[in-house]
Amino acid sequence: MEKCNLCPRSCGVDRNSQKGFCQELAKIRVAKIIEHFSWEEPCLSKESGTLAIFFSGCNLKCDYCQNYKISRGGVGEFYTIEEFATLLQEKQKTHSSIDLITPTHFSRQLAEVFTLFKKEVPVIWNTNGYEALENVQMVSKFVDVFLTDIKYSNDSLGAEFSNCPNYFTKTLPAIKEMCHQKEDVFDGEFMKQGVLLRHLVLPGHVKNSLETLDVIAKNFPDRKVSIMSQFTPNGKSKLNRKITAIEYKTVLTHMEKLGLENGYVQDFESATENFVPVFV
Ligand code: SF4
Repeated sequence: MEKCNLCPRSCGVDRNSQKGFCQELAKIRVAKIIEHFSWEEPCLSKESGTLAIFFSGCNLKCDYCQNYKISRGGVGEFYTIEEFATLLQEKQKTHSSIDLITPTHFSRQLAEVFTLFKKEVPVIWNTNGYEALENVQMVSKFVDVFLTDIKYSNDSLGAEFSNCPNYFTKTLPAIKEMCHQKEDVFDGEFMKQGVLLRHLVLPGHVKNSLETLDVIAKNFPDRKVSIMSQFTPNGKSKLNRKITAIEYKTVLTHMEKLGLENGYVQDFESATENFVPVFV
């Protein structure tokens, strides 16, 4: 952590005393824990739900962020490595999986956490996709499922909305590495291991979604895909409306045309703030 390069930002800061782009120091900080969480895709949890852990901070700065309060580093409780290992060890007994949400900037700390106890349920790496190859390889030692965003089909939208001019350039090889590391393995409907790709349709940007589906069909045709309609304006972005039914239908029609049938779509009615967890 003395010269942080955990993600493609490669800030080079000493996280023991300095914050990088992600706005987090070395110590694990958690904004929210939701037990028995059942809002992820159905294959990722059984009846008992997943143990959802929302980490503070983020290595992107999407102006339309759906979890703005936590991503900007304003809230959270600090944990030592030992405290966090104890928490996971105890809570895993009553959950079907552990869902680590936006964990990339704490990768090295989490690698240490998982050396301290025996995990008994699948661990989900719920990432925005902006990952370094070396980091994907490192976390693959304790991660079972990569649940990754693929937000854009080009770098210009990453620059415009996420303060990330190389999002696509870095994310595509990172997802290829995730697929290289984890074959899909199921226990009935439950994904024990594998890769699930997520794409959130943005209002006014259907073209981006169609081109992203083209990228998925070309590079990851056999992996599960989840196309999300739940975009909710946060009042801080020029993306200031929900998507329309026509926009979503256009995207789903293209998905069907490409033969991407392995995955999930949402009810259009999902575009509600009820899907955005409340952070205090
Ligand atoms: S994890 Fe944070 S400090 Fe480290 S390179 Fe990424 S953004 Fe910078």
